[in-house]
Amino acid sequence: MSTYYVENFGCRATQADGAALERQFEQRGLSRATTPAQASVVVLNTCTVTAAADQDARAAIRRVRRENPEAQIVVTGCYAQRAPNEIAALSGVSLVVGNSHKHQLAEIVTTQMRTSDVGPQASDFAFVPLAMLGAIASSAVQSETDSRWTPKPDVRSPAQHPGPTTNDQRPIYVSDIFAHTELQAAPVFDVTAGNEHARTRPNLKVQDGCDNRCSFCVIPSVRGQSRSLPIDQVLVEVNALVNSGYREVVISGINLGRWGRDLSADRLPASGFRTNITGSENAFRQPKAETRKPTFENLICAILAETTLEKLRISSVEPMDWTDELISLVASSPRIAKHAHIPLQSGSDAVLRRMHRKYRPWHYREKIEKIRAAMPTAAIGADVMVGFPGETTAEFEATRRMIESLPFTYRHVFTYSARPGTPAASLTNQVPVHIARDRNKILRELAEEKKHAFMRTFIGKKLEAITLNSCGAGTLSREGATKFTPRSMEPFTEALTDNYQKLRLRGHHAPNQWLRAQVEDVLNDALTGATTG
Ligand code: SF4
Repeated sequence: MSTYYVENFGCRATQADGAALERQFEQRGLSRATTPAQASVVVLNTCTVTAAADQDARAAIRRVRRENPEAQIVVTGCYAQRAPNEIAALSGVSLVVGNSHKHQLAEIVTTQMRTSDVGPQASDFAFVPLAMLGAIASSAVQSETDSRWTPKPDVRSPAQHPGPTTNDQRPIYVSDIFAHTELQAAPVFDVTAGNEHARTRPNLKVQDGCDNRCSFCVIPSVRGQSRSLPIDQVLVEVNALVNSGYREVVISGINLGRWGRDLSADRLPASGFRTNITGSENAFRQPKAETRKPTFENLICAILAETTLEKLRISSVEPMDWTDELISLVASSPRIAKHAHIPLQSGSDAVLRRMHRKYRPWHYREKIEKIRAAMPTAAIGADVMVGFPGETTAEFEATRRMIESLPFTYRHVFTYSARPGTPAASLTNQVPVHIARDRNKILRELAEEKKHAFMRTFIGKKLEAITLNSCGAGTLSREGATKFTPRSMEPFTEALTDNYQKLRLRGHHAPNQWLRAQVEDVLNDALTGATTG
């Protein structure tokens, strides 16, 4: 039997695509290899959010080629969508499939395997030219495997790309991403290092693409327009996860708060809502009368009403989508984790305008203050970017002051990276690298201080947490050795609190259990404590 291996790079959305690719291969009878070195087909599911992400993908291609010269290397994902010829020119690459054709990737690969002269052993097959694939696909594959599959006339061959002539035999499947409305979704699981079996907290992508045009961001051009997983499919996936025993599900997307804008209201369940939901959940379960479009709040209410999921966690939502309704829902339901991740990017009005972000600093501040007032112990996190072109000392200082003054509990700090084709990349006033690095360091240190101050407020208090993985004595990292006390050598269980803090619980506990813990201390980067009644 042929084997495959999917290696993912980048964000949770890419990992969700990778999980969907694995599903595609399994459905077509391929089995998953445990390492790229053992696979007949290695799929590199790439990211292109920074220049470093592109470099990582190129390094992975070289590594796989070195470790497994017989493997067919298929490159897909955001980098493949953005620069297919650049990738096709790299030694060892067999096939490039952009996000536009990712939903057909396993189909394309297995078709090529089936049409090989030497049979289905991937180690022996040669990829067929693109034109031949189309002919075979239309006559054979379509009827044999999936009646919905049709060869797309917009699939371009290398000859249609002004690329290196040496790649003429390497098919490239890339077309206009904005013409595509498919959404791949399969849950991604948190696998705690060292324990492949402790799969917890599945992450379900329910939305892809973005209709915004932030001037630094390459995502819309590689992921296309915003599109939503219809609610019935979301409910099927969540119920399947609940039935498999998962106690917390994270819903995510590229621009999650836009979920539903491309759907019509008739995709909402018409009836059958459970009655054990809160007043807020009940109030927000139907689409707004003026638009008749389902909203993100409708999605959350439907998940609460139509499933028995114990805990729903909402990943990143843009500031303007944190409506009063959403805040009220999250605050009022014990089944929604008290956690708000809200991209900030900059605290300077001028920088936000140059970034083409849709909110102003005072809008952002107002949202955070409302969330904190509604949920005094919630985790509140943000993405912040430093070194955007033209960012002056005063503009950076506005960001620093804003972060200092708002009740953030954690932050992700990024340094601006020019992405080809974005408006910001053509700006001439790029910030020197050493200045951007210094600013990044300042914000990271500030983030650490605020995070630890928040963590210390829970010493002596009780928190709910889900267990992730048990660890034996002595497996703690030596990082922060000054705090490495004999007690920390005791067996412990890693857990994550409802409000998104790492917790080390004394003793062994089975993964995937919601427990109540008494917090005792802060050690390195985690709370420590013991279970309590
Ligand atoms: S909201 Fe802006 S930064 Fe986020 S994916 Fe869309 S365009 Fe990119």
